[in-house]
Amino acid sequence: MDLKVTEIFHSIQGESTYSGLPCTFIRLATCDLRCRWCDTEYSFAEGETRSIDSILQRVREIGCPLVEVTGGEPLVQAGAIDLLRRLLEEEYRVLLETGGHRSLGEVPPEVVKIVDLKCPGSRMSHRNHWANLELLTDKDELKFVIANEEDYLWARGVLRDRQLEGKLTVLFSPVWGEMDPQELASWILRDRLSVRLQVQVHKVIWGPDRRGV
Ligand code: SF4
Repeated sequence: MDLKVTEIFHSIQGESTYSGLPCTFIRLATCDLRCRWCDTEYSFAEGETRSIDSILQRVREIGCPLVEVTGGEPLVQAGAIDLLRRLLEEEYRVLLETGGHRSLGEVPPEVVKIVDLKCPGSRMSHRNHWANLELLTDKDELKFVIANEEDYLWARGVLRDRQLEGKLTVLFSPVWGEMDPQELASWILRDRLSVRLQVQVHKVIWGPDRRGV
């Protein structure tokens, strides 16, 4: 099966509990959301069609044991599930970064799922696929990208209403250049939230606009 691929590159993982580790990224093209603060809009249209064999060949050449399938929204393309299976067969540690609006039901259980819940500031929170929460385990990670205090209060409410704290890693990620990380940190500490504040390490290292890193 073929997939439309925007880019494959080797870099430092900038998000999640795997942050700081060398990682191969497979960025699949297209997305069916339009988050207001999206930083990979170039993936909506740019890409070349590649076979899974050709993708795996490039991943083997890079030779990194950690591989992330990202986008765009990787689950838009049906072949993404086959790609995840083939990566697992080759014994990579496989991460999937997804916007959280598409069902995770077909994703192999060995894949580490890093799943957004879209806050109101994204203008996409009406698209959250809430049933996905039932499919997450303690190895998976739930991410809230936070643009302002309204987003923070919304995320805090979701955690409390659904009793998610302590069940899996929860990431609070400030929108780059918009949400002050210090302010977000102060709210988390004030409210004694059991969440992990993350900044996008790849942007700290290479700047916010560099691609392929
Ligand atoms: S889901 Fe991800 S790729 Fe799609 S618009 Fe939102 S941030 Fe961008």
